[in-house]
Amino acid sequence: MSRELIKGKVTVIGAARSGLAAAKLLKSQGAQVFVSDKELAQKLSATGGSAFGGTSPIQTLKSAQVPFETGGHTDRVYDCSLMVISPGVPSDAPVVVEAQKRGIKVVSELEFASWFCKAPIVAVTGSNGKTTTATLLGRIFEHAKKECVVAGNIGAAFSNFVLDLDQAAVAIVEVSSFQLDHIETFRPKTAVILNITPDHLDRYGKSFENYIASKRRVFENQTMDDCLIYNFDDPVTGVEVRKHAASHVRLLPFSVKTELDEGVYVANGRVTMVESGRVEDVIVAREISIKGIHNLYNSMAAALASRVMGVPMEAIRETLKTFAGVEHRLEFVRELNGVKYVNDSKATNVDSVWYALHSFEEPLIVLMGGRDKGNDYSRLSDLVRERVKAIIAIGESADKVFEVFRNITKVEKAQSMEEAVWKAAALAARGTVVLLSPACTSFDWFENFEHRGRVFKEIVHKL
Ligand code: ADP
Repeated sequence: MSRELIKGKVTVIGAARSGLAAAKLLKSQGAQVFVSDKELAQKLSATGGSAFGGTSPIQTLKSAQVPFETGGHTDRVYDCSLMVISPGVPSDAPVVVEAQKRGIKVVSELEFASWFCKAPIVAVTGSNGKTTTATLLGRIFEHAKKECVVAGNIGAAFSNFVLDLDQAAVAIVEVSSFQLDHIETFRPKTAVILNITPDHLDRYGKSFENYIASKRRVFENQTMDDCLIYNFDDPVTGVEVRKHAASHVRLLPFSVKTELDEGVYVANGRVTMVESGRVEDVIVAREISIKGIHNLYNSMAAALASRVMGVPMEAIRETLKTFAGVEHRLEFVRELNGVKYVNDSKATNVDSVWYALHSFEEPLIVLMGGRDKGNDYSRLSDLVRERVKAIIAIGESADKVFEVFRNITKVEKAQSMEEAVWKAAALAARGTVVLLSPACTSFDWFENFEHRGRVFKEIVHKL
């Protein structure tokens, strides 16, 4: 069994949140753990440790008495029988390739943590909507007074919580494709695939196929005793699930377009669930508190996942009516002079911007740009023509954004977030929404998307 491996020497690659949590869990289990981070020394001198939430990872490792190295990997990393890698470490990183060549078992932090999990796991994956759906699920279970944790990609490493859970609890795990790349036995009782659209192609050899294959792994160890909840309306997800999961997993689709024999769907404005032949009214769609069609999908997925895990419908319905959403996802900031300001800093790919643009009736001024991941912005052209009065192009990709949209709408470039907000405010007529929805990651100007969203909000509040 894989867990036997932790009795020997184990190397953890990457000393950010997941790596540190894995190292601590390993240490608590008696492993001889060694942590190695290629970039940590540079990152620390550049940020003074603030990128790690104030506590330096070096301090954390020292106080946990875990030996470590920073600023590069020495050969000591290969002196182990198990290597646990953080999601930030690409599969083709030389250290991973070399370890595999030497016959060392390489697993993701998710896989490793799951070895210790006694509770059933609800895994939420997809290109967009994971955090919203996982958070909503957590609230539903809390409302039903069922013990649960929400962990994983959401910023709370699974390794930190896994020992606290007994069989009666539920582990809700937000799962990214990077964590799925190195699983072996990870088997969710219920898995959710929200959607699969091009994202992170820089980490998948520019291949959408490779990215899809990675998402598929969420159900590879599931059986007919487990459920796979998936987006029936998303062509990519639908095809993949029917082709690769139908023979060995119980499938439960959700759809806003088709009345389904089993699963959850919308008919005449009402969300209806059919599960094991039982038909139940979930909620009137417009009573769901989080807005936009994407959030209807997220809500339907969460309702279905919690219902199959035994939550009463009443708790599901009540939570859907009151859930306020998650910070940085279409978050209302302020209304000033009849102009609404909305922070969607978490929109780090084109698809999430597509949904954001669909979520408003009002004319829009959009702040777009940042670190580009090989984006095809032209997919937004028709929507921009229809709904967007102006774009303020920001960050490293400002020139690219400018070129794509210059003949479609007014585009202005800005050299800072402050300048971008001022320009947007100057252009905005009453009844307009100013929306930060960048379609890019934030690492050009900011530490992360939360930092970008906070800076945006601070500037907006000072207007
Ligand atoms: P993730 O954790 O997968 O990145 P989030 O819930 O943090 O997802 O949302 C990320 C971005 O995607 C936000 O801009 C949000 O408005 C948008 N979004 C949320 N749910 C969906 C969905 N189901 N489909 C498309 N976009 C979505």
